[in-house]
Amino acid sequence: MKFEFATATRIVFGAGTVNNIGAIAKEFGRRALVVMGRDSRRAERLLAGLKSSGVGAVTFSVAGEPDLATVERGTKLAQAEQCELVIGFGGGSALDAAKAIAAMLTNEGGLLDYVEIIGRGQPLTKLSVPFIAIPTTAGTGTEVTRNAVLASPEHKLKVSLRSPLMLARVAVVDPELTCDLPPALTASTGLDALTQLIEPFVCNRTNPMTDGLCVEGLRRAARSLRVAFSKGQDKNAREDMAVASLFGGLALSNAGLGAVHGFAGPIGGSFSAPHGAICAALLPHVMVMNLRALRQRDPNNAALPRYDEVAWWLTGDSKTKADDGVKWVRALVADLKVPRLGSFGIQREHIPDLVVKAANASSMKSNPIVLTPEELTETLEQAV
Ligand SMILES: [Zn+2]
Repeated sequence: MKFEFATATRIVFGAGTVNNIGAIAKEFGRRALVVMGRDSRRAERLLAGLKSSGVGAVTFSVAGEPDLATVERGTKLAQAEQCELVIGFGGGSALDAAKAIAAMLTNEGGLLDYVEIIGRGQPLTKLSVPFIAIPTTAGTGTEVTRNAVLASPEHKLKVSLRSPLMLARVAVVDPELTCDLPPALTASTGLDALTQLIEPFVCNRTNPMTDGLCVEGLRRAARSLRVAFSKGQDKNAREDMAVASLFGGLALSNAGLGAVHGFAGPIGGSFSAPHGAICAALLPHVMVMNLRALRQRDPNNAALPRYDEVAWWLTGDSKTKADDGVKWVRALVADLKVPRLGSFGIQREHIPDLVVKAANASSMKSNPIVLTPEELTETLEQAV
């Protein structure tokens, strides 16, 4: 057994922890670039906390999932304003943009020198400027991952900037920040978290540290995602989902993902659909296909008993088997009113191209079994 585990230097978790942001941030500098989503009112408490600790804030809004040009604009602004640290406050988009900006502030050259696939893919060589990540959704876990997902509209692709040097110096996870999320967003981000706990647990690069995190995260997501969806102000449910999201991030970045995320990259690059909604629509169909392929071609694969375990943690019943887990996920996806992929404009004629791109996606390489083009096609047809 060989594994490595890397994460944010410090994780501060708990309701109300965002109120301590001033004391946390001032250790890293006097002037911060605050990267946030569209709704700047949400950041009022954060900005007040920085002000009272004497940390100046330059705000930068990211509308939607970030592209390369957004990161370049943010980097120029931070340079012009002489920011010493970067704070990301928002969903996965704001946090990924902030993470990439923090990296580009110390590494010479442009983004295309470093991004994979469409760029030169050179490794980053310098530690990012201090980066503090504060998620306001519970899903992506990007506060503890070492990559930033960026869109390249001209290539119709999503690509990653990836390096352990990009890990946040502090992740501040305050579940109270998620209490006002509308139900649809709670559903899609929460199902992304669930996917990010299942895929690392059955992938071909599992390790004992991430296994423990996945089990605990799955138990919490299973008991609380429905509650968070129907009763947004339920503090215990929001806390469970914040833990599930955080643990999913820790697991995916230290083990791997699978076919759901293998598809999510190319689909997200070509269609304007939120990442969480794509994963939610795909999850039950990928589980079905993986189980079928494993039983047919690799019945001794360790992932098969792991799918049974997933069913135990989801249903709370140790007598259940893998197929009961799939049934449970199907029912959840239906109850949370997850739209089919077709509702985002994806049609049958798009499937062949998406299958080719998905087969080459990095997440596909850690799927427990290599799915054939026919199997990938059938999976996507089911989800559309
Ligand atoms: Zn995801």
